Amino acid sequence: MNELLNRVYNESQEEFYKLLKKKLNSEEKTFIVTANPETFMLSSKDEELNSLLNDKNVILVPDGIAVVKAAKKIGNKITERIAGIDIAEKLLEFSSVMNKKVYLFGSKQEVIDGMKKVINKKYSGIILVGTSNGYVENKDKIMKEIAKLKPDVVLIALGIPAQEKLIYKNINNFKKGIFVGVGGSFDVLSGTKKRAPKLFIKTNTEWLYRIVKEPKRLKRFWNNNIKFMFKIKK
Ligand code: UDP
Repeated sequence: MNELLNRVYNESQEEFYKLLKKKLNSEEKTFIVTANPETFMLSSKDEELNSLLNDKNVILVPDGIAVVKAAKKIGNKITERIAGIDIAEKLLEFSSVMNKKVYLFGSKQEVIDGMKKVINKKYSGIILVGTSNGYVENKDKIMKEIAKLKPDVVLIALGIPAQEKLIYKNINNFKKGIFVGVGGSFDVLSGTKKRAPKLFIKTNTEWLYRIVKEPKRLKRFWNNNIKFMFKIKK
């Protein structure tokens, strides 16, 4: 776990977004994992996930205050949390300005339909090369089709760890592209679900808002976040 925490990206959000822009410009293939306590907890029991997180080509971004604190504790000079949803939003923004090709994969069809509307309205510079909802049977087949479209940005919303594993398994079929597993980001960006109010985001309590809104998240939170904090303490 310490090795992974040491690998977590530790510069500011601003620096990270500069890096994203640079990668988009240079068309350098990039795989970003937004790491939260669940990512770390799952990796200790999941060899496939663990090896992809340890791959030096993968950028691990701290998507959670618990990850920031844990990384600090082991001496990583980390700056701040960088939320997955903000990365998704920035990538849409940059892609619109740079007229980049984007593919959206994951979430329910109505959420994808909402995303298409948002892109038309707010990010009209984007060349949306395709979309697929996340409830298709053969996801590898979709990845092969995406590769043929040569997108610059591929956002995959299937949840941890399915999205990360799918990217890792298929990324060799791509010559370029920024790949990010974005979890529930499309649900929010499409307007289907509300993101936490700014105060929660500012005070690093977005997790609390999500539990109150969706109490069924509590079990996931206990199994991952609470256990993660105990593990770090030890
Ligand atoms: N999802 C999907 N296919 C599946 C399972 C989940 O497309 O087989 C989608 C789901 O609709 C949701 C996202 O994956 O949009 C996971 O969101 P969640 O809020 O669980 O992720 P988090 O942000 O908590 O990591």
